[in-house]
Amino acid sequence: MVADPRYGFETRAIHAGQEPDPRTGAVIVPIYQTSTYAQDGVGGTREGDYEYSRTANPTRTALEEALAALEGGRHALAFASGMAASDAVLRTTLRPGDHLLLGNDVYGGTFRLIDKVLTEWGVNYSVAALSDLDEVRAAMRPETKLIWCESPTNPLLGIADIAALAELAHVGGAKLVVDNTFATPYLQTPLELGADIVVHSTTKYLGGHSDVVGGAVITDSDELRERLFFLRNSAGAVPGAFDAWLTLRGLKTLAVRMERHCSNAELVAEALSVHPKVERVYYPGLAEHPGHSMAAKQMRRFGGMVSFTHVDGEQAALNVAARTKLFILAESLGGVESLIEHPGRMTHASVAGSLLQVPPELVRLSVGIEDAHDLLADLRYALDAS
Ligand SMILES: *Cc1c(COP(=O)(O)O)cnc(C)c1O
Repeated sequence: MVADPRYGFETRAIHAGQEPDPRTGAVIVPIYQTSTYAQDGVGGTREGDYEYSRTANPTRTALEEALAALEGGRHALAFASGMAASDAVLRTTLRPGDHLLLGNDVYGGTFRLIDKVLTEWGVNYSVAALSDLDEVRAAMRPETKLIWCESPTNPLLGIADIAALAELAHVGGAKLVVDNTFATPYLQTPLELGADIVVHSTTKYLGGHSDVVGGAVITDSDELRERLFFLRNSAGAVPGAFDAWLTLRGLKTLAVRMERHCSNAELVAEALSVHPKVERVYYPGLAEHPGHSMAAKQMRRFGGMVSFTHVDGEQAALNVAARTKLFILAESLGGVESLIEHPGRMTHASVAGSLLQVPPELVRLSVGIEDAHDLLADLRYALDAS
């Protein structure tokens, strides 16, 4: 089995769960665009145990085997979106009266789901800077069942010590969830650092081409896998076969894309850090970033996301976002094309007025894999004119 960790990352990305089709020899996993499967007599499913595509679909199974192999986990479950994956994790691990500790800089949609939906079901949460272990220790309660971590965070690129957080969680009888969307398993594998659950928005780097929405959960725990599978089958937040296929195709080139994303982001971060219109650059690859040494320890490289604040405030930041030509003004991230956005008014509008509020002069870049010189020229033009 190519899922074996003795095989390199790139080999697993291209082959794990993706053996040639046994019937036709098709090298690429077919899109099993079917809702149902013929049975050999009442209640007798054929080889593979497929009976209905909400429960399981062979294209989705291939994607799940590949995702598990890349994160180094025993089980992966694909979902219709990153939020559906996060929702499933929250609803299988928390009960009324439980407490959840949330990083103070998480994806706005995750915060919204917890703050507006989960609390209605009697789950309590509090917010802490997960880069500060003393703060985490102080925020833990006897009823804390989950720590929800992003590293790097969105949009401020904060870094948490995942191994230390896992230890703190386990001492307190809680589980650690890491949203690994920004890093991807190519740069960081949280399960190996002690995390219990990894969630992904596969919409981003894993899909990689801004053409599909999806999510995934990866875990080593058989019990959690059973509960997640039961909930997904009951609630139905599954990706269709074509979406699973697109994500699987994206995975094959993840390693080479990430290398270029990282190289381009490093050049962008360096150029921004000496530009007179830039106040502060948030990129864990810069030596002055407070999480730089931790990121260097637990990540292979530093990723493709860069944020910065404009010296002249919010309007100037909005002007930059409106003036780039190659960096497209849009939400989302992780595609081959570069994107620019204003978190305060776009991706993180839902955290306005909360403890997670982001600076109004902040601009976030998803640095794509275009020619780096073209990207730098585009940013300089927009900054100079702002
Ligand atoms: C986009 C994103 C999500 C949500 O995923 P969707 O696929 O949009 O539902 C969750 N976490 C992070 C870090 C994200 O960037």
